[in-house]
Amino acid sequence: MMPGPHGTGTEMDSSDRNLPEDQSERLRKALDAETERCLQLQKQLEQANADFEEFVSIAAHHLRESLRDVSANSQLMAESYSGRLDSEADRCLSHIRDGVAKMQSLLAGMVEYAITNSRHRQPSRTDMEAVLLLSMDTQANDGSAVITHDPLPVVAGDAEILTKVLKHLIGNAVKYCGTSHPSIHISSRRQNLEWVFSVHDNGPGIDEAFQRRIFGVFKRLHGNENPGTGLGLAFCKKAIEWHRGRIWVESAPGEGSTFYFTLPSADPDFS
Ligand code: ADP
Repeated sequence: MMPGPHGTGTEMDSSDRNLPEDQSERLRKALDAETERCLQLQKQLEQANADFEEFVSIAAHHLRESLRDVSANSQLMAESYSGRLDSEADRCLSHIRDGVAKMQSLLAGMVEYAITNSRHRQPSRTDMEAVLLLSMDTQANDGSAVITHDPLPVVAGDAEILTKVLKHLIGNAVKYCGTSHPSIHISSRRQNLEWVFSVHDNGPGIDEAFQRRIFGVFKRLHGNENPGTGLGLAFCKKAIEWHRGRIWVESAPGEGSTFYFTLPSADPDFS
């Protein structure tokens, strides 16, 4: 069959034939260049994070040393001059010691917050029952709190970070309980590819207007009535988001609070 003025429709000239190949080659090159650019950016970000973590660790080390000096010297002074100082001087020394204790806990909270998502960490199979036991071990519980829990699953996570998360949530439930009988229940339920955990308390509850705000850094509702830094829930949020999870609270004043967080489930072959 003779080709017409515009070809037969089944025939292609050589430039037509090459077009898709040229295009896919161009696309492949562009994709390679973009991948390379992303890898470079990721490397730069990792380096910047590592530098920041190193800076925080060294600065915290020096600050801790200085605070220890102030604390030891004010203690020494209180002991050496015991009974020889007037009440005003005693009050000053006591303010110095309180101030040092506050700065020490603030420093600990800031370091904990700043280095949550260290690049050296990788999620692995983590038994949340063991995490809960560890978190209760490190808890300052005078025995008045009743802490119960349902069987807890294995998740993909970092045990050390998750221990701190539960420690903060349970610690807050006890601290803000407002009654002499804190009662806390921890449970979990499976939802598609993740687990939803809950920490329920019988405390005063949290007004809806503040339920998002309390996860921000240095946000506190209870001012000076209770010791604290306002960094605990901010740490929990950062830690759970590092696990690609979410954290929130459901509560009504007078009805206790339930803090929820999600974590990815650990597949059986997850190492
Ligand atoms: P901190 O306890 O050091 O103040 P957090 O970030 O852990 O800081 O908590 C922020 C604020 O949220 C607290 O100051 C408190 O007002 C409120 N809060 C946290 N947990 C509870 C709880 N279980 N019940 C009532 N209020 C809470």
